[in-house]
Amino acid sequence: MKYIGAHVSAAGGVQNAPVNAYKIGATAFALFTKNQRQWSAPALNNQTVEAFKENCRQYGYGPDQILAHDSYLINLGHPELHGLEKSRAAFLDELMRCEVLGLSTLNFHPGSHLNKVSETQCLKIIADSLNYVLDKTRSVIPVIENTAGQGTNMGFAFEQIAEIIDQVEEKDRIGVCIDTCHAFSAGYDLKSEEGFDKVWEQFESIIGFRYLKGMHLNDSKKLFASRVDRHESLGDGTLGVEIFKRIMQDPRFDGIPLILETPNDTIWPEEIELLKGFVL
Ligand SMILES: [Zn+2]
Ligand SMILES: [Zn+2]
Repeated sequence: MKYIGAHVSAAGGVQNAPVNAYKIGATAFALFTKNQRQWSAPALNNQTVEAFKENCRQYGYGPDQILAHDSYLINLGHPELHGLEKSRAAFLDELMRCEVLGLSTLNFHPGSHLNKVSETQCLKIIADSLNYVLDKTRSVIPVIENTAGQGTNMGFAFEQIAEIIDQVEEKDRIGVCIDTCHAFSAGYDLKSEEGFDKVWEQFESIIGFRYLKGMHLNDSKKLFASRVDRHESLGDGTLGVEIFKRIMQDPRFDGIPLILETPNDTIWPEEIELLKGFVL
């Protein structure tokens, strides 16, 4: 079963996200559980939580079909104590919000070294952050998203993601989300058929499909290996549409949220239809 959707708006409250997903024909969705550009947010009240759960029930979204995304401000690999503590506290709060909402996964960008520590040190700080928050929560799985490797962002190589997982104590409470645009921009050739097969072989041997908890389906505005993160609508970018057909026809991507983060949200219903049409 393929769960296909988009990162929908939760404006007016998280309870609106499942409704917005349903309206575009989605069978999965991603959301921010708070304003992604602010550090703190008021706690979720009972009424909002109940409305969210009721809407998920009504429109048929279970925890396997939902992938929450954390705030863009958080840097779990922050090289300085103050920034690191602030990030850890905010991430912990986000994990707790997910627990309250009955969600099972929270997607995050691993972190940035800001040219103040080495890549290896930064990966260790990220893993320490994860061990810290996992110790304080019960069920939600933090999901590491691969990056394009822009600036000092870590997580653009499968080896870096594996190095983080390696240092996480609770291996059943860590996951991975692969963003197709980020992977292509980071130098993973998903465009050609041989390239596609090779990249997923590498993924299996370096990280492992057992960790795959979600996918972000985006075409790219930038060239292969550009290390620049600019999403494009499916088929309009440098990746092209074939890769999305291959993903839809590949059982290794069954049962996890497959999420569009493409820039033109007015065509999400068509993009979702297109993807559904590829499923055999
Ligand atoms: Zn993404
Ligand atoms: Zn991106």
